[in-house]
This record gives sequence, structure tokens and C-alpha cells, in this order.
Amino acid sequence: MDYQAVLEEVAAHARPFVRQGRVADYIPALERVSADRFGIAVADIHGDVYGVGDWEIPFSVQSISKVFSLALVMAQSHDGHDNIWQRVGREPSGTPFNSLVQLEAENGIPRNPFINAGALVVTDRLQTLTGDASTSMLHFLREESGNPDLAFDQAVADSEAEHGDRNAALAHFMASFGNLENPVPSVIEHYFWQCSIEMSCRDLAVAGGFLARHGLRADGSRLLEAREAKRINAVMLTCGTYDAAGEFAYRVGLPAKSGVGGGIIAVIPGRCTLCVWSPGLDARGNSVAGAAALDHFTTLTGWSVF
Ligand code: GLU
Repeated sequence: MDYQAVLEEVAAHARPFVRQGRVADYIPALERVSADRFGIAVADIHGDVYGVGDWEIPFSVQSISKVFSLALVMAQSHDGHDNIWQRVGREPSGTPFNSLVQLEAENGIPRNPFINAGALVVTDRLQTLTGDASTSMLHFLREESGNPDLAFDQAVADSEAEHGDRNAALAHFMASFGNLENPVPSVIEHYFWQCSIEMSCRDLAVAGGFLARHGLRADGSRLLEAREAKRINAVMLTCGTYDAAGEFAYRVGLPAKSGVGGGIIAVIPGRCTLCVWSPGLDARGNSVAGAAALDHFTTLTGWSVF
């Protein structure tokens, strides 16, 4: 496979979609990003990386961080023993990512780890396991991406905290059901920090390599059992692209996780991990040009999980 040539064709296809959609503005610090950006990278399972466009420019990972927090919790607790799945479900929610409505009827157990409520539970668990959830994630991402310069974006984290009433409400509500182990202020603080990490398409494609390598890290050591990596990929496929996961599976056919920064990572198990970035979002919160690019990538290569 000539990845470079495929990516160039994908980028040409996606270009007309760049600037469609809206840059997220509900976290004011995200608004300053130019809507013209487009980058895409592929990291194969051997660690070779290819990219085009703005693939080396860092952006706010936002909800893509939820994949890594889940992986770190599963890596440290191995499901079956200390079971995160008793505190968070794995069904699509059919509601917006920051919705409160299901939590009351479902006793404070969020539908899945990729809506905000579920991600807060996972961060809470990571906080208990590590004593410093966001820093342990940053260290992991630096190691796994091979980029020691990865950092939090303080302006984004502060901005989220300032406009964080909804996330605070979700956390307090779950705490009232006994589904948080740590104090609410600490859980939401670590959650905001993890969302604020800045990474490029290159960094994310490389750091997500363990999902394509059935749980093996870049250095060959095991992060997750193969069945655990499979489970994360499965939840990405069914719940990773907000309330559009069905449409995304239909069009792209890959496990993927998007964030309101405009990034999307996608996994082709056994082959490669992709990351695409373009800040203009559709009404559901997924990058318009990013989804078009992944759609075209699987069309050109014929690679999907189906
Ligand atoms: N930090 C964002 C929030 O909690 C994440 C949003 C996202 O990327 O889905 O609102």
C-alpha cells in the first residue's frame, strides 16, 4: 500500500469539505483555531508514519482523550477483576454527549465511557489508580507518541473550567448515586486537563497504535490483552462519534473517536491507526472534512472492519 499516495488523494477529496461546519465555540478558547486547517496521518503497526497537510500541527484532543483514559484504566485493572464496566455501560446513548437525562432513570450509571458522564467515571477511576489522572495520561501519551514535548493547554483547561457547569452537574449527579470515588472538583479538574492536551495527527496516530496492534505498545510490551483492545475498538465503533455512530459506521466502517477540537482517530485492527483533523464540525460534533476523508480512505483502500 502506497500510504502517501492514498493520503494525498484523500486530502484532495476532503479539501472542498474544509470550512464546512462550525468551529466549536462553547469552549471559548477553541474558537481561535483557523477553520482552514486539514491534516491526516497514518501510522502502520510497525511504527512507520505518513501524513499530508497540517498533520504535524498540534490541536486540542478533547474527547479523543477518552479512549486513552479508558485504555489506562483497563490496563491497570484488567476487566473482570476491578471492573469499570459495573460503573459505566457500553451502549450508545442516543443523546448528546453532555446530556443529563438518562442518568436519573439509570441510577447514575452512564451509558458508555465516551459520553461526558462516562468519561468522568473513567477519569475518576484513573485518579484512584494513579493519584494523578491527567499527568499519568500525559506521560503515557508522550511515551507512546515518542513526542516528549506534548503538553496541556492551560488556556483551554481554564476556559473549560470557567464554562464547566454542565460537566460539574454531571459529576455531582453521579456522586449523589455513589458512582464517584473522588471529590467532584478533583475529577472535573483532571477531566478538563486531559481534554486540553495538544497533539498533532502524527502524535495521535502513533499513540493510538496499540489499538491496531491488539494491545501491544510501541516498544512491544503489552498494555492490554487482545480482547481488551478489541473491546475498546468495539465501543469506539458503537459510541465513538457522538450521536452519529451509526451513520459513521455506515459510511466509514471503522472504530473511531472524535473530539470537538475537530480531530478523529480511527483504527484498522492489524494494519494501522489514522488521525484526521479539520476544525469545522457538523451538527453532531464530528469534523465534516475529517469524516469525508475517512470515508474516502476506506473507499479507496477497501479496508474496513466489515
Ligand atoms: N472537554 C469537552 C467537554 O467536556 C469535550 C467535548 C468533546 O470533545 O466531546 O465538553
